[in-house]
Amino acid sequence: MLVESLVKATVELQGFRIMSVTGDTAGLVATIGPDGRFAPRCGQCRERAAYRDMRPTRRFRHVPVWGIPVELRYAPRRVSCPRCEAVHVEAMPWVSGKQRMTRALMVTLATWTRVLPWKQVARLFRCAWGTVATAVDEAVAYGLAHRDLEGLTHIGIDEISRKRGHVYVTNVYDLELKRLVWSGEGRSRETLEAFFEFLGPERTAALEGICCDMWQP
Ligand SMILES: [Zn+2]
Repeated sequence: MLVESLVKATVELQGFRIMSVTGDTAGLVATIGPDGRFAPRCGQCRERAAYRDMRPTRRFRHVPVWGIPVELRYAPRRVSCPRCEAVHVEAMPWVSGKQRMTRALMVTLATWTRVLPWKQVARLFRCAWGTVATAVDEAVAYGLAHRDLEGLTHIGIDEISRKRGHVYVTNVYDLELKRLVWSGEGRSRETLEAFFEFLGPERTAALEGICCDMWQP
């Protein structure tokens, strides 16, 4: 079925399979089940672990298809992990942490916030403003955890306001590779100093261009 193929193409499902897709134009639900050929993995350390019991079904909001909401449903297993020597909920590759949206939706929302105001992104995807904010936070955290600062020569610095202008965040981008390299709360001189401290003297000396778009650098 088409929807099943779309879900498979947009969701990391290693170790799982789609059991059914139901619903209509008001909303589609893809029910996921474990793939018996694979052992479950620990949600904390990703090690293979032994099945213990099952938790209630969880719902994950996914990227809508042609404006039709799509939801994934799955009842996670708890596993006894030999490495952690503890019982944990299994790893679910389509979601990060305890989020109620898939990684794919998170990335989609965060990508749209680069070209549209958050409020419009929320309207476009028919979700709450807070969902967009969560997606951006998660995407920033992911980007920061996977950053590589080798060869950084041109940076752009700008500030964004959060919570109706009460909280400011300063973001530093790699202008060549067009990605976020640092994010810090505030928009003051101290915020910038914190960035250069993080960057270190050698990498700061290697910078060739800085483009700054702040209210008072
Ligand atoms: Zn573990």
